Amino acid sequence: MSKNEIKAMVKEISPLFIDGVWRQGSEQEVSEDLNPLTDEVYAFVSQASAKDVDDAIAAAHRARVAWANMVASQREAILIRAADIIAARTDELRDVIIEESGSVFGKAMFEISYCIDLLRVAAGLVRQVTGDTLPMTEPGQLGMSIRRPLGVIAGIAPFNAPFLLAMKKVAFALAAGNTFVLKPSEYTSVIGLKIASIFEEAGLPAGVLNVIPGPSQMVGEILMNDPRVKMVTFTGSTRVGRLLAEQAGKSLKRLTLEMGGKNPFIVLNDADVDYAVDAAAFGIYFHQGQVCMASSRIIVEAGLFDSFCQKFAAKAKSLKVGDPHDPATIIGPLIRRSQCAVINTHVEDAVAKGAKLLCGGKHDDSLYQATVLAGVTSDMKVYAEESFGPITSVIKAADSEEALRIANDTSYGLSSAVMTNDLQKAMDIALRLEAGMVHINNCTVADEPHVPFGGVKNSGFGREGGRASMDEMTELKWITTQLGKRKFPF
Ligand code: NAD
Repeated sequence: MSKNEIKAMVKEISPLFIDGVWRQGSEQEVSEDLNPLTDEVYAFVSQASAKDVDDAIAAAHRARVAWANMVASQREAILIRAADIIAARTDELRDVIIEESGSVFGKAMFEISYCIDLLRVAAGLVRQVTGDTLPMTEPGQLGMSIRRPLGVIAGIAPFNAPFLLAMKKVAFALAAGNTFVLKPSEYTSVIGLKIASIFEEAGLPAGVLNVIPGPSQMVGEILMNDPRVKMVTFTGSTRVGRLLAEQAGKSLKRLTLEMGGKNPFIVLNDADVDYAVDAAAFGIYFHQGQVCMASSRIIVEAGLFDSFCQKFAAKAKSLKVGDPHDPATIIGPLIRRSQCAVINTHVEDAVAKGAKLLCGGKHDDSLYQATVLAGVTSDMKVYAEESFGPITSVIKAADSEEALRIANDTSYGLSSAVMTNDLQKAMDIALRLEAGMVHINNCTVADEPHVPFGGVKNSGFGREGGRASMDEMTELKWITTQLGKRKFPF
């Protein structure tokens, strides 16, 4: 698009939010943001230049002392007002989430209700930034640890739960007394900018939150290298997380990484097979499988394998695929049509190496059918790689020990589940699963604002949610007070 064309349509371009002001990027770069269902332009979004990123960091840096020192009741009030504003703007936000990210109706509503709860949880933690009193060796010496805000935190967010995951970073950072620079996904910039408009309406002081869609590599490099940014919190793919970790190694930036998964869902012989089928279906097909916690490897003990496969494929075939606005739709569009090619590759590779396609394997533009592969083995791409679509593998295990071995046979370690009525066995497996999260008799997809969410291995490090976020986003300081005079050695 030429600069003149951009000038002519500037009113339609979603601006950046820097230092409390909505403004166009200083280099007048604009990107097209597509509707995943129609592939038509949903929005034109202004792109931050290097100068704009610097301005956003500078604004957050200027605002940090006043925000950290603002009385708790005022910070709480802003977070609670933001929750109320989301509730009042539900229809508007729901439509943006559906149209910009392809979320089905129910998933969009889930993100909204989650964010309302999240902001209330974060408001409740403003006065819970506590430390310890510490016994000291020296007579008359009192010790304490206190938690202080870090200052400026930057967040880089993914497309798949764009409102929830970006808000999680922002809400806890602000609650802990930090200021923030948010770079939303290029696929969901408008949703990211809505977060700015919610806080603007809630009365957040200028500079405390800045939202800057822009070229990801350039923005990321500046955020990772600017010494005024004290921490970067990233949610996204392991590929990008690894790049950021390399940069953090040079700049020594505090970093949390919430990355991909290949999450095992184990079904043991004594499980209720119908219940297991329902849990597995929700675990893989929620948001068309574009979930880091998706149940993308279903491992079934031999005794239940055949009946599970038959019932699960029947359930998958019954799921309505189509327009995400329709509340009856379960499977909406993938974020981009190109993602269908990745899933096709996984299907073709698996079938060529001997897997059986029980259903699906086809798509209509960005609408990919619920897909089930059986007989998947470790030499197949779909066994190891994140597909990020409505496709899962059902793998047979001779017994519970083999199920556990297969479950841990992955470079990832985010979520996991085990279905059994034997709680003793379930706990034993839960303790030995190499995953940050384990759900017994539940599906792998679960999140609440106050739980320590996160993974191990290539799924990342650091935890998000409630107290865990408050700990990650504050610095411990040790303070001592000497009552009377201590004796020094010389
Ligand atoms: P992505 O890694 O492609 O992008 C994530 C963010 O990083 C986006 O904002 C993107 O613009 C930015 N980015 C891309 N290249 C960058 C670079 N070189 N430097 C800095 N930033 C860069 O991920 P995605 O496709 O948006 O999301 C899907 C991935 O996210 C999946 O792997 C999924 O498992 C993962 N995810 C993880 C969690 C979790 O909590 N563990 C949650 C949701 C999604």
